[in-house]
Amino acid sequence: MTTKPIGTPGTAGAFRLMLLGSGELGKEVAIEALRYGIEVFAVDRYENAPAMQVAQHRFVIDMLDGDCLEDLVERVQPDLIVPEVEAINTLKLIELEERGHQVIPTARATRLTMDREGIRRLAAEELQLPTTPFRFASTENECVEAIQVIGTPCVVKPVMSSSGKGQVIVKNATDAKDAWERSIAGGRGSTQGVIVEGFIEFDYEITLLTVRHASGTTFCPPIGHLQVDGDYRESWQPQPMSSGALVSAQQIATTITSALGGTGIFGVELFVQGDKVYFNEVSPRPHDTGMVTLISQDLSEFALHVRAILGLPIPAIEVATASASVALIGTGSGRQISYHGLDKALLAPETEIRLFGKPEVNGKRRLGVALARADTIGQARQKARDAAAEITVEIS
Ligand code: AMP
Repeated sequence: MTTKPIGTPGTAGAFRLMLLGSGELGKEVAIEALRYGIEVFAVDRYENAPAMQVAQHRFVIDMLDGDCLEDLVERVQPDLIVPEVEAINTLKLIELEERGHQVIPTARATRLTMDREGIRRLAAEELQLPTTPFRFASTENECVEAIQVIGTPCVVKPVMSSSGKGQVIVKNATDAKDAWERSIAGGRGSTQGVIVEGFIEFDYEITLLTVRHASGTTFCPPIGHLQVDGDYRESWQPQPMSSGALVSAQQIATTITSALGGTGIFGVELFVQGDKVYFNEVSPRPHDTGMVTLISQDLSEFALHVRAILGLPIPAIEVATASASVALIGTGSGRQISYHGLDKALLAPETEIRLFGKPEVNGKRRLGVALARADTIGQARQKARDAAAEITVEIS
């Protein structure tokens, strides 16, 4: 938490926030920070990233390169360093924190959550939270062995990956060798390893947005979501849950976020089977499925994050009866991207479209989100889907 007063951007007294990662989530964080008169420095590895389009300053660097990162931080002297992606040199963040820089939520939390191994070992082994059975493997042989031990069906995921990249579901032991190769090919970063997890037939999965702030911990109502090939396609809030499952979910979220520490919002991903809740992952930052809060809550996950990291109060959060989000996915290749159909998509009341302004598509990319509010979750999901269906994306 910070106690520095907020000065005027562009002057010596400005409050400087450095965003490491400038995608769609970073863009909303930047907008919320700008609303409090913060001077925002948007950083990413490519030009014209979404948050760069709204921040006062933009820098293109390789955030995995410790020297580049250090050089930039020393030049800018930010009051807060706010990571928005995993692919950052987190050892350097630890060093910078030791030298007095403030990292959100903490440098250790960014280190532990940058790959699947750190967070899974903390959750399952240290904190004894319920998870699916798992094994790590760093060679093809270890992977085949891990699949034998865990049994099929199981899921193989690169240790460094997100959005379902490199996620392989293994139905038969004979597919084990192939799974290693396909999974490794889809990963990123320098760690060449995978996690093999037991496949769980959950009833539903949720993200429990958990805010650690100056006066304690606040939960948003649970967000249900639909993933296709490990990538978020739809989310809705609130996800109906039994009171037993909700209590367990909140206990797990409290345990993991207290262990990570610091202030800010966390997206705690959980699988639910009856009253039994399993921990999957946690993001120490806003979560993509939490984009539904852009329409469902008076303070979105981005507004909550910014308030929490500035040490500002988090009063009771006002939540609509039922809301939903649908990701707009563009497919193709090119830098000329145009969007059509907003005039039709926005005809329905309580409907919104957000376009991220991504500068390039190469394959499949999330380019925007359709948002809707209604009386029931079913209606809200349908309304968001209808709005999304009106949008066409041209890529050349
Ligand atoms: P992750 O990248 O770990 O968040 O996984 C992406 C999505 O894949 C999850 O949100 C689930 O829908 C699905 N998934 C991941 N792990 C498992 C598992 N062990 N069992 C069943 N589904 C899974």
